Amino acid sequence: MRHIAIIGSGPAGYYTAEAAGKQWEDDARVDVFDKLPVPYGLIRTGVAPDHQSIKGVARRYEKTALSDNVRFVGNVTVGEDVSVAELQDLYDAVVFATGAPEDRSLGLEGEDAANIFGSAAFVGWYNGHPEFASIDPDLSKRHAVVIGMGNVALDVARILSKTEAELAGSDIVEHALAMLRGSNLETITILGRRGPHQIMMTPKELGELMHLDRASPRVDGDDLPPVDDDAILEPGLRKSVTLLRDFAAIPESIHGEKAIAIEFDFFANPVRFISEGGRLTGVEVERTTIEKGRATGTGETYVVPADVAVTCIGYRSSAIDGVPFDERQGRFANDEGRILPGLYCVGWAKRGPTGTIGTNRPDGYGVIEKVAEDIGQGGRKRGREGFDELARDRGLDIVTFRDWQKIEEAEAAAAREGAPREKFVDIESMIAARK
Ligand code: NAP
Repeated sequence: MRHIAIIGSGPAGYYTAEAAGKQWEDDARVDVFDKLPVPYGLIRTGVAPDHQSIKGVARRYEKTALSDNVRFVGNVTVGEDVSVAELQDLYDAVVFATGAPEDRSLGLEGEDAANIFGSAAFVGWYNGHPEFASIDPDLSKRHAVVIGMGNVALDVARILSKTEAELAGSDIVEHALAMLRGSNLETITILGRRGPHQIMMTPKELGELMHLDRASPRVDGDDLPPVDDDAILEPGLRKSVTLLRDFAAIPESIHGEKAIAIEFDFFANPVRFISEGGRLTGVEVERTTIEKGRATGTGETYVVPADVAVTCIGYRSSAIDGVPFDERQGRFANDEGRILPGLYCVGWAKRGPTGTIGTNRPDGYGVIEKVAEDIGQGGRKRGREGFDELARDRGLDIVTFRDWQKIEEAEAAAAREGAPREKFVDIESMIAARK
């Protein structure tokens, strides 16, 4: 018998559990831990609330979670309730599927002012992550700045732009909806330090900006390279750049009909946040040119008005005591998922915050191959029986998958009309709902 502990119940965690089930069938027991009392990680608190079809993948994870040899162990923080060393004593393999939950910081002057948020916090806020439910952004003024030109920047700009009717079928949490109702935003500037050919936005997500009820995307045609230059781009990026060209061609009369302008500001590297009386008023940027693919400052600066700012520049994994960590890359130090024999990582904790949810599937299968090479038939560890004893001794309040199903039912019952659920946004309410 092999005993496997997976830390994190998001896509990487459940694909790894699925792979373990396929690899060993009934000759393995897999415990999937999560510090929250609810599963699915990024699917619940990262994927945009208006992208419900993407969230549908949770049904696949549910199937894995309900299989005989897999169980969910919620409300347990590894590193606090139980140490990594204790898990290593109990399980043949410990796999970190903890994602990249921390914001990278720009490291700029003024960044700690009020109403500046990293995307982990801001996205966590509108998705009801308990750690960020109370960040309380002020959206009552006119200008928002979103820094970065990836899909997270698009998610943030889109959610800030949508009307309540457009969010009707989403599972955006009530506190965010209430704040958006009171929003007076007129411009959302998306700042990119490089140019249109260097965006990280994918066509489907970028195209959504064309169909917003009260916002329209604005691109300055002068920022676009000659159309023939698009030929060298890979097809996905070429499609995205074609969309930017479509945005540049939107007539002024259409912009005039929309209350919010989503402005793409290319070649604009943020250098400083400006506040007056403790209130954010702008982001100073330096014009850049692109040399060998890199943004190079020109010395010319200007200020983009900003009453609220969200940095969407990527994430870092959380280090954990005693586990080798690559500080520069912001992820566990690993060789194809192996940190040390017996200790592994998968998904964003392994490779950093890139790729789609589906990228985690081959990652999960790949790491189980490494585990199989290392642990053979298993090492007569005590596995979940030993963990349950430890949990009883420590009085840990474990949330099971059955408990989660009750929480899920309560969230569905509390949903606004047309919405799939109204999430609990604090741990106490989640735990209370399982009774
Ligand atoms: P990303 O795709 O890596 O984009 C990060 C952006 O931040 C880039 O435009 C980058 O510009 C910019 N940036 C980084 N450091 C900067 C700095 N110091 N100053 C200014 N700009 C800086 O990351 P992401 O948007 O966080 O997305 C993470 C992953 O999740 C991606 O794989 C993404 O596709 C995926 N995702 C997918 C969806 C979806 O499919 N619907 C939704 C959300 C996220 P440079 O290129 O110049 O470094």
